[in-house]
Amino acid sequence: MTAGVVILGASHAGVQCAAALRESGYLGSITLVDVQKDHPYQRPPLSKGFMTGAASAESLCLRGEVFYDAENIDLRLGVQVERIVRDEHKVLLSDGQVLAYETLVIATGSRARPFLEDCAVENVYTLRTLRDAEAIRAAAETTEGPVVIVGGGYVGLELAATFRTHFQRIVHVVEAAPRLLMRAASPALSALVAAKHQEAGTVVHAGRCVTGLEQVNGAVSGVVMQDGEVLPAGLVIKGVGILPNQELAAMAGLDCQDGILVDQYCRTSDSSIFAIGDCCRFPEAFSGRLVRLECVQNAHDQARTVASVISGKAQPYTAVPWFWSDQLGMKLQTAGRWEDGMTCAVRDESEKGKMSFFHFSYSGQLCAVETVNHPALHILSRRMILSGVFPEISQVENVDFDLKRLLA
Ligand SMILES: Cc1cc2nc3c(=O)[nH]c(=O)nc-3n(C[C@H](O)[C@H](O)[C@H](O)COP(=O)(O)OP(=O)(O)OC[C@H]3O[C@@H](n4cnc5c(N)ncnc54)[C@H](O)[C@@H]3O)c2cc1C
Repeated sequence: MTAGVVILGASHAGVQCAAALRESGYLGSITLVDVQKDHPYQRPPLSKGFMTGAASAESLCLRGEVFYDAENIDLRLGVQVERIVRDEHKVLLSDGQVLAYETLVIATGSRARPFLEDCAVENVYTLRTLRDAEAIRAAAETTEGPVVIVGGGYVGLELAATFRTHFQRIVHVVEAAPRLLMRAASPALSALVAAKHQEAGTVVHAGRCVTGLEQVNGAVSGVVMQDGEVLPAGLVIKGVGILPNQELAAMAGLDCQDGILVDQYCRTSDSSIFAIGDCCRFPEAFSGRLVRLECVQNAHDQARTVASVISGKAQPYTAVPWFWSDQLGMKLQTAGRWEDGMTCAVRDESEKGKMSFFHFSYSGQLCAVETVNHPALHILSRRMILSGVFPEISQVENVDFDLKRLLA
């Protein structure tokens, strides 16, 4: 048996890569290594169904345990990859073992961005892993007083919704940027989401910074704002973004720039090493820009791209990005990527509980569609963006115009 493929990180990207390799007929050895001991699981439910108790830990498994044996994939859990030795095509593991590779796939993902690390008090959490989610759920039952979420991104807002409606807590969301979802969503969607959270009783502090924490007997008691105000808090969740896990790659001399740099085949600056998922920065087919995405779609589609290259049927990565979030009874879905400066057309079907925002570039290209409670339009939008068949703004705004006709 040859050295085969070694995949670092067994989460959405790594597991999908192993599966896609087998689906594409790859017969060589596949070794999948992850520092976590838990069987590889889905992360999105951690801030959604798992937090409310609607989804069990078992239901989160990415693949059933039999999958790895059945597909002859050597899954090694609880082992950290400590070094990549490129000139010997080897990786060194924390248990002293050495793995030889013919092709290496780095799928090491991301970690919570450190924030207020010098304030070591109890009942302050970040959410990235199943263990984090379990700890937060337990703290929801054992703590009292307001919950303060630091960071108004998607994960923070999903938690705010759960703490408000499921645990019936007083909730504050503090966001340093002037509006919620500043990085990921348009001002239109952001305003709609903020209004929903406020209606639900959450206090939104946009454009305000947190500078410290107060404590009583070692447990958090307040969140200190830059202007000196202290928000009382019995539980604090820090959700101020993530950092790509690129250190192994950087130490091995691979090019990195807030993410491991790859080409349209997810190949790094070393032709036998690929990087996929949250940890990489790649040239986006539509805009030509170097971007780093943090979503399951990107992890899965890049995994398939790498499998296609390794199995000799190389397909470049050209997928339309998409993302979803569930909060306060809203299904938020985004197809494509919104950027500041785009023209927004609104399809207002609010009497049916639906709303959509279409975003066009300066040249009239449809770049992103944000839908609220409209999965069918989300799917159609992905097809429109991919096919290059775009509606006129007047067609978007006319809810009687059947957008499906454009692709017929
Ligand atoms: C709470 C939460 C909710 C989310 N909700 C959504 C959502 O609704 N929709 C959506 O599209 N996306 C969502 N995301 C984002 C999505 O989960 C990520 O984009 C996705 O997990 C990326 O997959 P990945 O495999 O690239 O990285 P990760 O999931 O970060 O996995 C990387 C793996 O590599 C391992 N690893 C790292 N370094 C080493 C090492 N040195 N040795 C061994 N193992 C290592 C880690 O233990 C980890 O298991 C959410 C994320 C979180 C945390």
